[in-house]
Amino acid sequence: MRTLSLRLWMEQSEKTNPDRSPKGLDSLVAKLFELGRAIEYIFASGAESILLGEYLGRFMLGIFAIGLLIGIDNFLTALARKYPAQFCGYCEKNPCVCQRERKRESVRQKSRDGSEQQLEWGIHRWWEHLSSLYRARNTESGGETYVLKRLLEEIQELKNALESFSGSVNAAESGQEAADDLADVFAWTIGLSDLADIVLEQEVAELSTFPEMDIDACTLLDK
Ligand SMILES: [Zn+2]
Repeated sequence: MRTLSLRLWMEQSEKTNPDRSPKGLDSLVAKLFELGRAIEYIFASGAESILLGEYLGRFMLGIFAIGLLIGIDNFLTALARKYPAQFCGYCEKNPCVCQRERKRESVRQKSRDGSEQQLEWGIHRWWEHLSSLYRARNTESGGETYVLKRLLEEIQELKNALESFSGSVNAAESGQEAADDLADVFAWTIGLSDLADIVLEQEVAELSTFPEMDIDACTLLDK
């Protein structure tokens, strides 16, 4: 049985979208904002929308495209480092208790290495992990509206980091910062799909035309 790691998803999406010009970063980020605002509108209108799943799927493809430009390894390593397998990277609890114990701004994340194993995780496994850590906290903090607000903030941070990345004197350092911010955007996107009960992996699969992939097998058979 085949499992699809994030790396594989990203490599496949590269084949279907071979344009890798760093100039594309601006429009990719603009696209994320656009999707974010469309989702905001859906929530504000109070209407259940079948478009939500599709928008979140497109969102994930946008994240992959940006990840390809800043480097798959940079992105995957940042994700494993910021969201370690055992607990929340800030409060070191599982589930996370960050909001209840102290203000987010006052907390600095300890630096650590993510597990090698996490580099092979797919969308479904990341969802399991992030849901177990953050679902309760996100629900308590205001649910979908709160998570979307945080997601939009993270896109803004990513935008700032990418601006220094593309015109960079120190590409390695700003690439790292961009990878960290992209990891946050990924985590909040998973968080939003979690609260909205959307099977994100399936949405991404439906939007993708990867000829050599068995899409049926990939939707739920994650590690
Ligand atoms: Zn925490």
